[in-house]
Amino acid sequence: MSGVDYDIIIIGGGIQGAGVAQAAAAAGYKALLLEKRAIASATSSRSSKLIHGGLRYLESGQFALVRKALRERDILLRIAPDLVRPVAFHIPVYKHSLRSSLHIRLGLSLYALLGGLKPLNRFKRVSLSAEQNRDGLETKALLGMYEYWDAQTDDAMLTRAVMRSAMDLGAALICPGTAIAAHYEKDHYQLRFRTDEGERQVSAYALVNASGPWVNQVLEKLAPSSPRLDIEWVQGAHLVLDAPAPSVIYYLEAPADKRAVFVMPWRGKTLIGTTETRFSGEPDEVEPSEDEVQYLLSVYAHYFPARPANIIDRFAGVRVLPKTPARFFNRPRDTILHRSSPALLSLYGGKLTGYRATAEQVIAGLRTQLPEREVKADTARLRLRNL
Ligand SMILES: Cc1cc2nc3c(=O)[nH]c(=O)nc-3n(C[C@H](O)[C@H](O)[C@H](O)COP(=O)(O)OP(=O)(O)OC[C@H]3O[C@@H](n4cnc5c(N)ncnc54)[C@H](O)[C@@H]3O)c2cc1C
Repeated sequence: MSGVDYDIIIIGGGIQGAGVAQAAAAAGYKALLLEKRAIASATSSRSSKLIHGGLRYLESGQFALVRKALRERDILLRIAPDLVRPVAFHIPVYKHSLRSSLHIRLGLSLYALLGGLKPLNRFKRVSLSAEQNRDGLETKALLGMYEYWDAQTDDAMLTRAVMRSAMDLGAALICPGTAIAAHYEKDHYQLRFRTDEGERQVSAYALVNASGPWVNQVLEKLAPSSPRLDIEWVQGAHLVLDAPAPSVIYYLEAPADKRAVFVMPWRGKTLIGTTETRFSGEPDEVEPSEDEVQYLLSVYAHYFPARPANIIDRFAGVRVLPKTPARFFNRPRDTILHRSSPALLSLYGGKLTGYRATAEQVIAGLRTQLPEREVKADTARLRLRNL
């Protein structure tokens, strides 16, 4: 009998790590996930909570990402109806909007085409009577409004549900468990990790580094050493306002820089986000800056001038973006799978929405390192339950 403890060890219990643990267990592999704080304690509880294709990524030509994300959105709507719900988006067009009616119509047509022309992908122009304008949207200089559909979730709950599904299929979880070092020996990794009780060792044929913003810090601790990708950390802030939840999600253009900002319903209140600010520091300590708070409040005041805007909560998360000369807004948002050796994959960036497809890709990429196992389930059909 082999003395290797696990087939796969996953470092990081955000959506990507939980997704890989689920896909590994569904494929019959013996999987262990290590999380240093709590499941979904980092980026995966600080997103905009959208399960979407990403209409705005069409502007930077990321068609493959949008198509994949729309496919994943439809799968999640089917397998997680308690956690992922369709929601209407309204895009108002004003006299001074950078994106004209024609621009939006073209974008939505392309979005519908990439989504496969299903009923959920239909869009329309809507009129806004005073009686319908119960959310208090600014109507001065409003030329029209478009409605399309995407989906919304609770990102932390979704992550916990995916981890629960992985555990139901036999995956193990150690939390808190911080990976501190690993080295490769003949045909497996020996990994050292710290728990509240002290340090322990565990072995596996393959390692997956799904540590989100810490991806390069973790990679640095793995031997033999391998090149790391050049990345930038970009923080995104959200505010929860003590204003009644809007009836739809508003897709708005920030007056200052024309970026897309969303005003969303969230637990009976209003959520507004997000920003893109270069971040340096310790990702566990990321917080919205005063500039970000003022930026988001000014967008809200511009579009909802008669609404209260008392902040009742605020949070920020850190994106991992490839380092390129392009503006943050235009950088690629798909996950990059970085292979250091046949038995080690690191995940850079990516979307909450695409976690399942990414996880399947990770497992396929490690298969040659893993023993033969009997498949247990198909992640595209496994029901995810709200815990
Ligand atoms: C502001 C913002 C808004 C976003 N909005 C959306 C959206 O609306 N829709 C969408 O699809 N995507 C969105 N995203 C993207 C999405 O949130 C992220 O891609 C996703 O949450 C990243 O998940 P992750 O598992 O890679 O990282 P994380 O969730 O950060 O998880 C990494 C985990 O690794 C753990 N860890 C780190 N080091 C170690 C170690 N040594 N040992 C053990 N554990 C370790 C950490 O504690 C952490 O829990 C958004 C991102 C941001 C920043």
